[in-house]
Amino acid sequence: GQNIIVRDLADKLGVNASQIITKLIGLGVMANQNQNIDADTAAIVADEFGKTLVVEDEKSDVDDIFDLDHEDNPKDLRQRPPVVTVMGHVDHGKTSLLDAIRQTKVTVSEAGGITQHIGAYSVNVDDKKVVFLDTPGHEAFTSMRARGASITDIAILVVAADDGVMPQTIEAISHAKAAEVPIIVAINKIDKPTANIDRIKQELVENDLLPEDWGGETITVPVSARDKTGIDELLEMILLVAEMQELKANPNRNAVGTIVEAQLDKGMGPMATVLVQKGTLKVGDMVVSGTSSGRIRAMFDDKGKRVKKVGPSMPVVILGLSEVPNAGDLLYVADNEKIARNYAQRKKEQLREEQLKSRSKVSLEDLFEKI
Ligand code: GDP
Ligand code: MG
Repeated sequence: GQNIIVRDLADKLGVNASQIITKLIGLGVMANQNQNIDADTAAIVADEFGKTLVVEDEKSDVDDIFDLDHEDNPKDLRQRPPVVTVMGHVDHGKTSLLDAIRQTKVTVSEAGGITQHIGAYSVNVDDKKVVFLDTPGHEAFTSMRARGASITDIAILVVAADDGVMPQTIEAISHAKAAEVPIIVAINKIDKPTANIDRIKQELVENDLLPEDWGGETITVPVSARDKTGIDELLEMILLVAEMQELKANPNRNAVGTIVEAQLDKGMGPMATVLVQKGTLKVGDMVVSGTSSGRIRAMFDDKGKRVKKVGPSMPVVILGLSEVPNAGDLLYVADNEKIARNYAQRKKEQLREEQLKSRSKVSLEDLFEKI
């Protein structure tokens, strides 16, 4: 968790360091004014001075049940498909590009399956797979962060060749850079008479993306989502970048994934699209996500076909959760029902406590800002 230097805590609370040290001795903690104390201790001390510190740990102890930081043995790691997000300014053709890729690469769903839009899909390129997150804008970088790590491996930045770099283009670039996700630029609408590819490249340079053919490292691909030109080249470039990233995961462990989309279906109950990140998710697995838990009753792949198990990077719709989970939340497989129930219960309590605290208390960060 966070630490704070005794002297700084004294400053924040508006008391002498010696007063803090005295309180600390009372708590059995020996520290001088230049030493760090942990945030929990700081909160207790603050309380004694009539102030309240709430410390948000990035990692809640509830989640520790699942030992997420457990490193897989390198010999257990296998190659996994890249997960791609499409970003860019409104009307530059994000939806059209995703549709064009899907139409050229995906066969229609089979009878007996589901036909819903599930928020993600995979395509085959040669003998490899590429997974696209079909979520609007930069959500994949903001809400969908699993413990600080984005679930996206590659960002496709769509820039309309007749319009150029716009505010949301720049925003998308900064999101991808902050998440350290490589950017491939799809220069779209090249079918338009007013399209000017060189002007787009010039504007990319102005935003620190130097195109490869201009001596830089940014891959740019001219495409037309309308005419479906350049789609294969774009997919090839995605595979090339993915290869350099050496994306790997251990398929032989309890699955961990992220909720991409979720809703309540009248007939089937809570339905959630999960992007599996590690392990293999199976029908019959006991899973938890936030305050929701349950045994997976059925799973459908992105083509609407029933499946029994699904490995890393693949999206899948699951049925069997007790309630609709939140998009962006992690989903874990628990060893048994007791662990899953216990986790969901503790999450509920944690949520309730947080709500109570946020009403009556100042957070450590707030305090740092105010004083
Ligand atoms: P989004 O807001 O980024 O998702 O953009 P859309 O995919 O909704 O596209 C916005 C508009 O641009 C629509 O009217 C599309 O038909 C049009 N559009 C998208 N791609 C192309 C293209 O390659 N060429 C042309 N001429 N129009 C396109
Ligand atoms: Mg759109």
